[in-house]
Amino acid sequence: MKRALVCGAGGFIGGHLVRYLQKKGFWVRGVDIKRHEFNKSIGDEFLVLDLKEAKNCIKAMTLKKGKFDEVYQLAADMGGMGFISSAECEIMRNSALVNINMIHNAAEMGIKNYFFSSSVCVYRNMKPGEPELPEEGAYPAMPHNEYGWEKLYAERMAMAYGRRNAMRIRIARFQNCYGAEGTWRGGREKAPAALSRKIAEMKEGGSVEVWGDGTAVRSYTHVDDMVDGIYRLMHSKIDVPVNIGCPQYVTVDELAKTIAKVSGKKIKIKHIDGPVGVQSRNFSNNRIYSTGWKSRVSLEEGIRRTYPWVAEQVRKTSDKKR
Ligand code: NAD
Repeated sequence: MKRALVCGAGGFIGGHLVRYLQKKGFWVRGVDIKRHEFNKSIGDEFLVLDLKEAKNCIKAMTLKKGKFDEVYQLAADMGGMGFISSAECEIMRNSALVNINMIHNAAEMGIKNYFFSSSVCVYRNMKPGEPELPEEGAYPAMPHNEYGWEKLYAERMAMAYGRRNAMRIRIARFQNCYGAEGTWRGGREKAPAALSRKIAEMKEGGSVEVWGDGTAVRSYTHVDDMVDGIYRLMHSKIDVPVNIGCPQYVTVDELAKTIAKVSGKKIKIKHIDGPVGVQSRNFSNNRIYSTGWKSRVSLEEGIRRTYPWVAEQVRKTSDKKR
């Protein structure tokens, strides 16, 4: 039986990836600084470890016998735009420490297959209507935020270790990812979860607050598509960074309207000041398409799989308050 390690398994994408790999027949150890909030029994084994510390990275990658066949590094101090714009130092320090200690010790321990989760935040801001940026378009580098700079550094470090050691490095640059069992409140949630929560909490005909003027363009990738892309990339021959994202681009207002449609509520949109991030996105998916991957979940279908879960969390929380 093949064995995989998923770092960041107590988080959103990591948690889904653990289950995906188990369905593929892997024995999976999950590691995170905290337990999974919504699924207490994730993985065949779960270790609570702070991966900022080298000794914990070694512990995470140590098996009684033999080595992990595959290591997936998704642990990061991260969140939506609100968090990214207010926690620059934490992001740059904490995520860099995790990545430095993970890649170095993976190489020392002879890990053969190492996946790193990067982000399309490594790219510059774009204007609406610009042609698709391929992966090389990340250079000359001008990420819009410090989260993107840390990801770019970690990508380069992983590739440098891959060149020096017999370690296959696979790097995915994720577009915004959403789905059930993701952070939906508390300040780290991303737009699909935040807007789902606000709409779930709202009465029919109420106003939902959207940061900025609502015209920022994004693509949202459902987590089922994302974990499939991660797996296909890991098992491909592509040793350079790869964008993974749904090719359906929408404005933030269109996202809010899609959620409202799924909720069945009539809503108004109220634009307020807030950290919007980049104005536009448009990336080539040709590399990931070459693995046979394609996005199968449209935005509306993905929201149909996500909104009821967020609404359920909102209901459970308000029941507890009563
Ligand atoms: P998440 O916050 O739900 O998961 C990240 C996990 O890393 C968390 O559970 C957190 O506790 C863990 N972690 C943080 N510091 C740690 C430490 N010191 N030791 C051990 N674990 C630690 O985020 P996610 O949405 O699942 O993202 C997973 C990865 O994908 C991250 O690297 C993120 O930067 C990247 N990414 C996500 C998106 C997205 O839209 N969700 C987009 C681009 C890139």
